[in-house]
Amino acid sequence: HVLTHSFPTRRSSDLSQEEQFWSRFLELAQLQLKDSAYDFFVADSKLVKIDGETATIYLDGNYKELFWETNLKNALITASFEVYNTDLKFHFVFEDTEEIPSSHSGENRRLSSGSLTTEPLPKIDTGLKSKYTFDNFVQGDGNIWAKAAALAVSENLATTYNPLFIYGGPGLGKTHLLNAIGNQILENIPNARVKYVPAETFINEFLEHLRLGEMKTFKNTYRSLDLLLIDDIQSLGGKKVTTQEEFFNTFNALHSDNKQIVLTSDRSPDHLDSLEERLVTRFKWGLTQNITPPDFETRIAILRNKIEDLDYIFPNDTLEYLAGQFDSNVRDLEGALNDISLMAKVKKLKEITIDVAAEAIRARKNDNSKTLVIPIEKIQEAVGAFYGVSVKEIKGSRRVQNIVLARQVAMYLSREMTDNSLPRIGKEFGGKDHTTVIHAYEKIKSMVDTDDNLRLEIQSIKKKLN
Ligand code: ADP
Ligand code: MG
Repeated sequence: HVLTHSFPTRRSSDLSQEEQFWSRFLELAQLQLKDSAYDFFVADSKLVKIDGETATIYLDGNYKELFWETNLKNALITASFEVYNTDLKFHFVFEDTEEIPSSHSGENRRLSSGSLTTEPLPKIDTGLKSKYTFDNFVQGDGNIWAKAAALAVSENLATTYNPLFIYGGPGLGKTHLLNAIGNQILENIPNARVKYVPAETFINEFLEHLRLGEMKTFKNTYRSLDLLLIDDIQSLGGKKVTTQEEFFNTFNALHSDNKQIVLTSDRSPDHLDSLEERLVTRFKWGLTQNITPPDFETRIAILRNKIEDLDYIFPNDTLEYLAGQFDSNVRDLEGALNDISLMAKVKKLKEITIDVAAEAIRARKNDNSKTLVIPIEKIQEAVGAFYGVSVKEIKGSRRVQNIVLARQVAMYLSREMTDNSLPRIGKEFGGKDHTTVIHAYEKIKSMVDTDDNLRLEIQSIKKKLN
């Protein structure tokens, strides 16, 4: 027996216990969540059945389970205690089962067919790369929320998060996700008007049309879109106000017309210093999601995904070796696989041993600055200069805030940019214990994931060292 949920619901004696439980849960969830989150994560769910102590709940996407586990567990438990006086177990299902009426699919999905243009408009160049899909985007800790939001947008254009703003460091999959949204929408709604464009290209097109006196064509194209995907918005920074102005107008026109906009950037809206404030304010109207570098497990999963089509045997220890070599950029990880493929082809190898892999990626590793040649002293100097702290202070043990930060950043970089052992690094920092170095490294590493300022600071110190 499946229940539909219609609001408002009231507990009354003629509701079955199951119905009471479910409507009470929905009530709690609605109180707890913002409307947009409720609409997206809860509205399409169903209580399939309660069997003994187990409630089976249907979610219309398995990536939603994590959200339920994290945010809705308490509401479920509260409702089960109130109605059943016990702590039910919860089991989530995602597939259509006989028990779920088929009408559920699309039932609450407001896939804005109403807002989609019906009259034939000139064809647009979507700019999309079809190879970037949700299917081949590996989910991990660092990107799960960005992916969930991207999926949400591609199911409910302009009703869930508008704009969606995704930011993160280079090579972490922003462009991939942006294209995946576009490809998914076109699969669902083939005549949707979708355009992917790097911000830089947008500007160039604008200037070109302006020069040719064809602004009308430009405006017609952009303002007739159902979905605008703008990549690397940070590159608008430093552009003339008039060009930012045109983007501002396009943004407003689409947004007020309820058309979806998704943006990516290498930094959060708060750090888009060189963009006009009113633009940045608009970016924050919707949802902002951060992508952080993949953890080890995710890097392995990404590698497995990418070697599927290759003809070589990759033993596990080779995969683990590779995942250990490139830890902050998926593009590098992919590049390493390309290097290896090339070498395997040239040398007619069948199996990729660690030695082969190491040889193939040697040049790339050198490009990536993890070399033996940067002396720790140089790192200390560069970090010291950046934070206005002397090398002596960095090597010392005073626990003043800015000195501690400089010291920890220098330790972090020494570990990241050189092949020195931890005890060796400790020694170079006035004879500290290797556990101090590990602590500093871990601390800065986790801060870098969440603190844009620090990430940018470290990037600029690294640049000076290269
Ligand atoms: P960004 O735009 O953030 O700099 P890209 O989207 O260009 O990064 O990603 C760089 C490369 O890494 C692309 O080839 C992309 O397919 C791949 N990539 C990044 N993240 C993932 C992931 N989670 N799963 C699979 N491939 C990924
Ligand atoms: Mg990109």
